Amino acid sequence: MVHKKLFIPGPVEVNGDVLARMATPMIGHRSKNASDLQHRISDKLRQLFYTREEILLSTSSGSGLMEGAVRSCTLKKAAIFSVGAFGNRWYEMAIANHVPADLFEVEWGQATTAEMVDQALSTGQYDLLTITHNETSTGLMNPVEEIAEAVKKYPEVVFCMDAVSSMGGTKIETDKLGVDICITSTQKALGLPPGLAICSFSAKAVERAKQVPHRGYYLDLLSLYDYIKKKDYQYPSTPSLSHMFALDYQLDRILAEGLENRFRRHQEMAELTRSWGRKYFELFADERYLSNTLTNMKNTRGIDVAALNKQLGERGFQISNGYGKLKDKTFRIAHMADCSLNELQELLDNINDILKL
Ligand SMILES: *Cc1c(COP(=O)(O)O)cnc(C)c1O
Repeated sequence: MVHKKLFIPGPVEVNGDVLARMATPMIGHRSKNASDLQHRISDKLRQLFYTREEILLSTSSGSGLMEGAVRSCTLKKAAIFSVGAFGNRWYEMAIANHVPADLFEVEWGQATTAEMVDQALSTGQYDLLTITHNETSTGLMNPVEEIAEAVKKYPEVVFCMDAVSSMGGTKIETDKLGVDICITSTQKALGLPPGLAICSFSAKAVERAKQVPHRGYYLDLLSLYDYIKKKDYQYPSTPSLSHMFALDYQLDRILAEGLENRFRRHQEMAELTRSWGRKYFELFADERYLSNTLTNMKNTRGIDVAALNKQLGERGFQISNGYGKLKDKTFRIAHMADCSLNELQELLDNINDILKL
């Protein structure tokens, strides 16, 4: 079987050296080596997240920490801002956990605005809000700098951000934005296999969680934090040490590339895909807020995306159809993690060749 190089928005193509680190021989999760491993990972992640706050890992996918955040840190009511499928998922998580929440959804392809956030928070009803940084179902990146300015007027509100498909692919200055819990997964712009979730966890989030009586168990962020603090950077249950070995190594690679270089490479890949998309199709999301890690094309030519993908597969590539209700209306090309401009150009050339564009 030909390996298909993945241009889907997670899981992404993983570098062979990084994959090999998953096969590192096991160590005890209560050993000094395990503590050292977490210390190294946390120090490097703090650089990537632009934060001085604590870093938590969860052996779950990113959804685990999203659920943990809304449950562990909402005391009154959560304001959930949604620009697509993943924003809606956060609302469903709140409801499933009996966490009081209101959903503020915009039309898919549009952004959450600072005005919307200000208006909702000014009611005084909410003590937690969630924002999607990069909405993978629509290909939109929210204007988080402006949103953050609005949130700063409400210091009682814990600010949670879903950066699952963008952290590692674009600059997200967690502390400067005032984000208390910034969440990502390993299998997207970080370029690792799926199975581990990562978040920053601020002192403010810690204080809030202490007041929340029923935080669940496995995804109780306060219990993860307490263990990190009291047991020298270990976890209440056995973490995926294999992912931690690979993450430690991949973070070295990311920092060796240089964060600014990495973000610039993503910007260039986004621009290449957008200009291709504008030339042959149309872009789905609002032009002012396009994602730097994936591009969502409107299927204006009525192509058979499944058939295209089948032919691409024979040539060793895979792209993605639309998400959820956009399944046949759009198709998506991810350009994140360790993908190069040349690889992306090769994909686009193959699509042009197959579609005779
Ligand atoms: C993929 C994705 C998620 C879900 O992450 P999992 O790691 O699959 O649980 C959440 N939000 C966004 C924006 C995503 O792209």
